[in-house]
Amino acid sequence: MKDVDTAMAIISTAGVGYPRIGENREWKKLLEEFWGGKRDEESFQKEIRELRIRRLLRQKKSGVAWVPSGDFTLYDSVLDHVAAFDLIPDRFRHLGANDSLAVYFAMARGIEGAPACEMTKWFDTNYHYLVPELAGQPKPKLVFNPWLDAFTEAKREAGLLTRPVLIGPYTLVRLAKGVSSENFAELVRSFIPAYNTVLEELAKAGAGWVQIDEPSLVTDVPEEHLALLTEIYGALKSSNPKLLIHLQTYFGAVEHPEAVFSLPVDGIGLDFVRGKIDNLDAIKKFGWTKGKKLGAGVVNGRSIWRVDPDQALGLLEELASLIPAEQLIIQPSSSLLHSPVSVNVEVSGDAVVRGALAFADQKLEEVVALSEALEARLNGGAATALPARLEENRIALAALRSHPARHRAAAQGSSEESIAERSPFAERHALQLSRFKLPLLPTTTIGSLPQTADIRKARLEWRRGKLSDDAYRQLLQERTELWIRRQEEYGIDVLVHGEFERTDMVEHFAHLLDGYHFTTNGWVQSYGSRCVKPPVIYGDVMDRGAMTLEDTLYAQSLTDRPVKGMLTGPITMLAWSFYRDDISPKEIADQIARALDAEVLRLEAAGIGMIQVDEPALREIAPLKHREWPEYLEWSVNAFRRSVAGVRDETQIHTHMCYCDYHEIIGAVEAMDADVISLETSRSHGSLIHALEHQPYANGIGLGVYDIHSPVVPETETMLAVIRDSLAVVPADRLWVNPDCGLKTRGEPETIEALKRMAEAAVLARAEL
Ligand code: GLN
Ligand code: ZN
Repeated sequence: MKDVDTAMAIISTAGVGYPRIGENREWKKLLEEFWGGKRDEESFQKEIRELRIRRLLRQKKSGVAWVPSGDFTLYDSVLDHVAAFDLIPDRFRHLGANDSLAVYFAMARGIEGAPACEMTKWFDTNYHYLVPELAGQPKPKLVFNPWLDAFTEAKREAGLLTRPVLIGPYTLVRLAKGVSSENFAELVRSFIPAYNTVLEELAKAGAGWVQIDEPSLVTDVPEEHLALLTEIYGALKSSNPKLLIHLQTYFGAVEHPEAVFSLPVDGIGLDFVRGKIDNLDAIKKFGWTKGKKLGAGVVNGRSIWRVDPDQALGLLEELASLIPAEQLIIQPSSSLLHSPVSVNVEVSGDAVVRGALAFADQKLEEVVALSEALEARLNGGAATALPARLEENRIALAALRSHPARHRAAAQGSSEESIAERSPFAERHALQLSRFKLPLLPTTTIGSLPQTADIRKARLEWRRGKLSDDAYRQLLQERTELWIRRQEEYGIDVLVHGEFERTDMVEHFAHLLDGYHFTTNGWVQSYGSRCVKPPVIYGDVMDRGAMTLEDTLYAQSLTDRPVKGMLTGPITMLAWSFYRDDISPKEIADQIARALDAEVLRLEAAGIGMIQVDEPALREIAPLKHREWPEYLEWSVNAFRRSVAGVRDETQIHTHMCYCDYHEIIGAVEAMDADVISLETSRSHGSLIHALEHQPYANGIGLGVYDIHSPVVPETETMLAVIRDSLAVVPADRLWVNPDCGLKTRGEPETIEALKRMAEAAVLARAEL
């Protein structure tokens, strides 16, 4: 164990957080076995404990000086704070003690009569946390101390003096519900005693440092919060003078750097990947406090690529010219939670791409190698050779850079090419009304229909070569035919083929386009035990020929009603993948958009009159600082428009988004200029209606009439009421009737009943017009 102050090396290293899922998703399996009653609590806890210790030992093996502890969790770290600080919502309290698994998993997953805590995206990542509910809660107090337990376990079982990690009080309250601008400061202050108790107990147990994460400091931070931040960190520090506090930020450059840099803490971690330029400029401008550590996050915690040693060392040398080397701690830019565990088992796909990958374990090794290289450079000058680990990176990344897939002439240079304008909506609308002759309040769905177990099983067998192409195709077509008949029978006006061939709306298209790599085991946690294996965009994304044409035309051949073509939009394809960092996200989105456009034009040429391009991720990767929104929205909207460029006015373009904070993105939605947008709205219908009242939308719009996340079949009357309300803000010739989102995860019987009632509600609403 190296100690930061006494070790031979003067430049220290640290981890910021590490995946919890295990190299082979052991964590997921254990949780699901326990939830499913296949494992009792004792054996569950025993296996989890072993996993937790193995996880520490892996980090130790990398050689980083400071391994974090307390970042392991049985579901979500935010939820751990809720349990430990006695903030359990009343509906769960009767289930047991604060530290019981019954209460914990009930909050996470819900039980009969007590719905789970709300889940939402962790900043702009694909990880979801559970939202603390602060309204009506007693003052936070520490009822058990998971950080102390983790710290002592790491010391005892792994011989590690760890840096325990907590989410800071400022961020915790920023992410909570039941907070207003009036009670914000009071709520943050109310946490100080509870944090103080954690810190005191840690100090007593021998902790030297504690890491307190405040990622909210890289979002919009109102000026008036600065005094509060100084106050709370002052209070924590003065109550725990001996414990060193490392304030960790990530996902961007800190707002108000001058104030944040001078907070009364002993070290501050900055993200030099996402916030590189601004964080560096701020250090140059405002200087760095003597003695304060700087956690230099130079290894990207959110990517899957090896670190570029020349870039990273260049940056570190610059930092070392501004700040004494003994104040530097080299780290990943964020927790490695967002990266898979290890490339050890990567065997699939292109060897050059595979060779350029670095997951969590490799990233920690890179941190250590960078510290050695920096130290050597500072001692011996720039001529010093790179350590082997980094020399390997140099070679692997050079190979990736010159990969032919990154230099496809056809994909280059057209980014600035203008996007053909369509005629104004009013003209298109008139043409489309006479082309499709739909009733007022036309009914449709969002695209996917129930994907029953037999379909998923058949796909697996087909992938494994146990089911022939023909047999698989036949099954899909039978299911499409069944559902075309059903949709007709229930009275749906615009039909879908059902997306039975898709595992996932992004992965499906990734397999059909050029430029993607698929990892063997590149899983990351999305929420709870759910993990995703995002595709990797490593090269120029290009069209490789028809993707949806056959399925769509087959469905259309069965009916006289219009069938919508169904594609995933460029921003969503980008957001739910790992991607290359040699070109900008905008350029990648434009490449995807051009490839999608080829498909859109093929569908149109084949006679498909309505095409939907889904963009559920448009809002979620919006920058964390609002002032950066206009630039983002401009390129993201342009990518969408490029994906449907050149379609005729008679072709009806639909899009879909899974949220309703419409007021936030109204400008973007208008600029996308789809003929019809469907929004997920049932959970806050009132507020959407309100927003539309103030900012009317000029094109077609479908306001989801029922929540597809619940198995409960909605009443016809309830949906009718939603349509009536919507008619107050959207005229009948532009209002569509549809569910909130795709129906893939729903069962057949409930979907059949819900769609019948939805169509009935539309008929009743039409009669009232
Ligand atoms: N067309 C997709 C579906 O119905 C849209 C899903 C989504 O927006 N998340 O499944
Ligand atoms: Zn949706």
